[in-house]
Amino acid sequence: MNFFEEEIAKYERRLKRIEANPSTKMVSSNKLYYQAMLQDNVEQLKWWKEGKPFLAGLGIGLAELMRSFGEFRVLPMVAIADRLAPKRAEECFDRIRAMGLPDYACDRTILFLPMALAGDDLPRPKFIFNRTGACEIVHNTYRTLSKLMGVPMIDIDIPFEDPHQEHLQYVVDQLKAVITYVEANLPGAKYDEAKMVEWQALTRRWYAALHDIYELRKHVPCPDHPRDVFRGQHAPADYASAPMLVKYYETYRDELQERVARNFSPVGEEKLRIIWGITGPYGSNIWDYLAGRGVSVPFWHYGQAYRNFAMPFIGDETEFGRKLNPLEEAAREMIYNSWAGSGERWIRDTIVTCREFRADGFVQFEQTGCEPVLGIGQIVGEHLEKELGIPSWRVEGRQLLGRTERSSAEFMAGLEAFIDLCFERKKGR
Ligand code: SF4
Repeated sequence: MNFFEEEIAKYERRLKRIEANPSTKMVSSNKLYYQAMLQDNVEQLKWWKEGKPFLAGLGIGLAELMRSFGEFRVLPMVAIADRLAPKRAEECFDRIRAMGLPDYACDRTILFLPMALAGDDLPRPKFIFNRTGACEIVHNTYRTLSKLMGVPMIDIDIPFEDPHQEHLQYVVDQLKAVITYVEANLPGAKYDEAKMVEWQALTRRWYAALHDIYELRKHVPCPDHPRDVFRGQHAPADYASAPMLVKYYETYRDELQERVARNFSPVGEEKLRIIWGITGPYGSNIWDYLAGRGVSVPFWHYGQAYRNFAMPFIGDETEFGRKLNPLEEAAREMIYNSWAGSGERWIRDTIVTCREFRADGFVQFEQTGCEPVLGIGQIVGEHLEKELGIPSWRVEGRQLLGRTERSSAEFMAGLEAFIDLCFERKKGR
């Protein structure tokens, strides 16, 4: 089975499971999420079978631009690797080693390489849209993909320095050059600003729902289950089922609103709140464990999260004192990321989110090979102690790979000890 067929089978199984046995703790809008993901994979597979063109690339801002060049679909490669089951991830990793590529990079990035190169697992993109920025691992993996596949690539330079607003025009100028280059080098591509406006209107609805969700999760008790909080946000333009996906986020928001109104907490009596940072071991039972101990996780904090949930978004006129045009809006989305630049942004945004959510502790799960957060966990922990008086736990691990009974048991033992510590510290405050 190719990637899309596997995904279709997976979401059909999940839908059957939640229809047969709906959870009272998880949001029921998850059903709509699975339906949207199922539809996405069905439509992507159909598009591929019909021989229609795909573009590969990364990220909010760029995805809307890619969809504005005509009838092109997007392959969000990192999000694709994120969805791999552990066994499939291990197989891809063996192929990475056999290809002589480094096995010390973050797993969610490099695992898409063997899939993309196989030829029968994913469609071959016509063009790659790349950017520098927070994560050089992603950037370099797309560069490698371009080189190994012989697919043309454009690269946008995102500066690091603050204030980030100063770089808007620099990025806009590059986007204008990108349009000229892509129109000249990608057969059938013609930038359509009206289409860009349409995509941004849909993306704006997505942001609006995320901002509401952010506020609703501040409520004590938190209305959301930790497992639902630990779900990546999908930029609508990356998906073939974009309108359905946006509908899911709005329905999710409405459901949390209703839970807040009746003071419902899926963890029972909320006894503790922690913020989870960066990523975690996918498919593990940590979220149910936390819920079972009455621990809420109101926010999953990573590079793009603060941008998505809390920063000014499409249509906002306050940040620059005027309405932005579509290319400026795209640039605005690309120039801020919590872990880009010096460590200052990551420290500041971590403190702000821990303060806003009244966290009793912070987990910094350091993804093996993740360059943006290397070496800063200690400093983040010291700031949290000093400014908020809360403990933090730094732990390193892979998101998808190397899961054994022993490593899982060690991880759970570490988590348990940290939660015990948070309870103790909370008692003493
Ligand atoms: S986990 Fe780190 S290295 Fe991997 S994609 Fe995210 S920022 Fe990049």
